[in-house]
Amino acid sequence: MATQEHVLGTYGRAPIEIVRGEGSYLYDGTGKRYVDFCSGIATVSLGHANPVVTRALTQQAEKLMHCSNLYTIPQQEELAELIVREVVQLDGQIFFCNSGAEANDGIIKVARRFGHRHPASDGTPRYEVITFLKSFHGRTLGSMAATGQKKVQVEFDPLLVGFKYVEFNDIEALRVAVSKETCGILLEAVQGEGGVNPVQPEFLWAVAQLCKERDLLLMMDEVQCGFARCGKMMGWQAICPDLKPDLISCAKGMGGGFPMGCFWVSRRSIDEKGTSLCSIMDPGSHGSTFGGTPLACAVSLAVVREMVKQRLDERAARLGEVIKTTVEGWRLPCVETVRGLGLLRGVALVSSALKVPDGTTPAAYVNNLCREAGLLACPAGPDTLRLIPALTVPDDVLQEGLDILHKVLRNA
Ligand SMILES: *Cc1c(COP(=O)(O)O)cnc(C)c1O
Repeated sequence: MATQEHVLGTYGRAPIEIVRGEGSYLYDGTGKRYVDFCSGIATVSLGHANPVVTRALTQQAEKLMHCSNLYTIPQQEELAELIVREVVQLDGQIFFCNSGAEANDGIIKVARRFGHRHPASDGTPRYEVITFLKSFHGRTLGSMAATGQKKVQVEFDPLLVGFKYVEFNDIEALRVAVSKETCGILLEAVQGEGGVNPVQPEFLWAVAQLCKERDLLLMMDEVQCGFARCGKMMGWQAICPDLKPDLISCAKGMGGGFPMGCFWVSRRSIDEKGTSLCSIMDPGSHGSTFGGTPLACAVSLAVVREMVKQRLDERAARLGEVIKTTVEGWRLPCVETVRGLGLLRGVALVSSALKVPDGTTPAAYVNNLCREAGLLACPAGPDTLRLIPALTVPDDVLQEGLDILHKVLRNA
């Protein structure tokens, strides 16, 4: 086992070394095989070492990896068109970056610029973005400040100003929170890290309505719940199919394991002159050295084409129901319910029905037992075990993973 002598200890890592993957299986250095219901935290959407993805990567690497955004990159246009047409399904433009945190920083910048162009009635720029308790938006200074969880902000204050956190799914609290400085509302269709909490459809509609009334931007963080994960191409489509967001951040699953992120900006007009929202981000307003390299775009193109071709959104919807009915069907006292949509599922654990040792959480405890038994999952908050298999997980491997979970939960 290699030491972590020179790697900064920002992660509490499990004591295994993963050396190889194939589909929904991972192998450690001792040759032990795991069923993977973590998928690199919802990134490896087409499974490990998928030949379609590997071929796209190697073929592009042989031609051109990177040339900078000083030139036109044809793969960017191709991928952006595919995302607009098949994934978002609303007209707009895409900015490419490398991670979810960067994508959120990007849409926060767009919202602030919008707040300058559409100031408060006294002429002062609007800059405040309202987010929700238990949300997760990333670890950069901007996205950390946007995150509605104290634990990620401890001793990093003073935080970037301009965020306010409101109880999720509470429209009255949200109405009260909107001030003359507010320019946008940012939320996840399904809160991933915060415990797999889906937004209620009535709430999401009310948020959209409030945005219209108060001239606010509706900002969806689709980093985890997007790209077919929740049974539709975008998470919000599985909840309110007719919703029209203004800004959308994406990353994780769109790269199939390769670092890739983006944000989408609506082309809708924001004034009587017909100025489009995307036009307020003009040359020089934003950038990224590595954003949208030919290599990253070629890989993501292969991933997204495959999602569309194989209708992996529908597959996620079907397999997600299998997880829910199977786990709830066990009728175990330690399982309260199964939350979530598609293949973003959270098993809500009942602490009092488990032999949880002191100093650990029910989710960490069950997660460790699963790993020892050959199943990799992922906690989401203290009481929820998150199951996020690849969208391509074969039916029998899904069953194999659930069988391990059943055995673990019966004895935990
Ligand atoms: C993971 C995640 C992020 C941050 O993405 P990184 O790629 O780790 O920066 C942001 N928002 C949500 C909803 C996430 O799940």
